[in-house]
Amino acid sequence: MSNKKVFYFYNPDVGNFHYGPGHPMKPHRLSVIHSLVLNYGLNKKMQVYRPYRASAHDMCRFHADDYIEFLQRVTPQNIQGYTKYLTNFNVGDDCPVFEGLFDFCSMYTGASLEGATKLNHKCCDIAINWSGGLHHAKKFEASGFCYVNDIVIAILELLKYYSRVLYIDIDVHHGDGVQEAFYLTDRVMTVSFHKYGSYFFPGTGDMYEIGADSGRYYSVNVPLKEGIDDLSYYQVFKPVIQYVMDFFRPTAIVLQCGADSLDGDRLGRFSLSTRGHGDCVKLVRDFNVPLLAVGGGGYTLRNVARCWTYETSLLVDEVISNELPYTEYLEYFAPDFTLHPEVVSRQENANTKQYLDSIVRHVYDNLKMIQHSPSVQMQDVPGDMMPTEEAAMMDDLDPDVRVSQMEEDRRVEPTNEFYNGDKDQDRGSSDNNEI
Ligand SMILES: [Zn+2]
Repeated sequence: MSNKKVFYFYNPDVGNFHYGPGHPMKPHRLSVIHSLVLNYGLNKKMQVYRPYRASAHDMCRFHADDYIEFLQRVTPQNIQGYTKYLTNFNVGDDCPVFEGLFDFCSMYTGASLEGATKLNHKCCDIAINWSGGLHHAKKFEASGFCYVNDIVIAILELLKYYSRVLYIDIDVHHGDGVQEAFYLTDRVMTVSFHKYGSYFFPGTGDMYEIGADSGRYYSVNVPLKEGIDDLSYYQVFKPVIQYVMDFFRPTAIVLQCGADSLDGDRLGRFSLSTRGHGDCVKLVRDFNVPLLAVGGGGYTLRNVARCWTYETSLLVDEVISNELPYTEYLEYFAPDFTLHPEVVSRQENANTKQYLDSIVRHVYDNLKMIQHSPSVQMQDVPGDMMPTEEAAMMDDLDPDVRVSQMEEDRRVEPTNEFYNGDKDQDRGSSDNNEI
């Protein structure tokens, strides 16, 4: 069906880091996924790259300089000398200092950044970085196992070439770091589907967080209750994403595929199957908009590996067998050794159809406001900027038709000059990064 060009970014060292004994985040999952991807032969359907490594300078496009400098310097050996910084930068328990911490950040961030660059230069249609997706990291601090927000940095890169970037987050946790970074702008719409309530981490993401200033109505939140299954999830995901596509008309999409929304996750409370999770990826893929797919949460290793391997197959549009190929990690997948094990849900689905319908309606009502919002960027283009010939031609048209023709024209991507205004994110000044 599709002939999309897919680039896959994988650093063979990224799976060798350890957050510490008992910590739920295991970079080793990345080695397991890659081994499955290779043994399914999916590497033949895409170009596999050993990615660029992000520098401190790259990270400071979003993060505060002193925070990144701290990440560069702190080690498990010298941690005593940094006691007061640990609290300031929220580094310690959830986000521990481990051997090679900065190298780890530089690998996963570099891969997302290079994915964005390749999309900018139209080298590929889809870029994949399963090591990225660390959506909780904030400008000044670490949060929820995330230190550097590779997603924000990749989106800032995409904004150099794409006028409207859509961020979709299907991790079980709210995509708070990305939402916060773009809360005030209409150039990035963030859409997060997550468990909300009962003090579930990070505690933000209710449906009334809609953005502010120019970004009002450009943050979309879909708060869900525990136990949501494939059918219910899709019942919300499909219409919400369809409305978002219709109203926002993104020119590039970043999809965070956090796999902690799968059934049986060590930290998550949803009941999605790998197929249900993958259906969301498939839906986004089929809009044929340049796409950066990243990982995120996922704490039951065997299921994360299944999920992102399956989603790699969807993104390259290749059908793969339910029977797992032999890999050195085959024992992890006992007793079924399949890609799609049966879902044995641990809990009731607490989301009623009425509740889900009401969220969809709420999202629709808010998105409708975008049309009436004075900040919608396409209306900023003054009419007299049209080339004379075109203007003359349009004078002959019926005024009603002309409006729709103008709308059609507005879909054309603006040139780079558009970004050299006040909101340019690439000037390296640390105080105008938060938009
Ligand atoms: Zn998560």
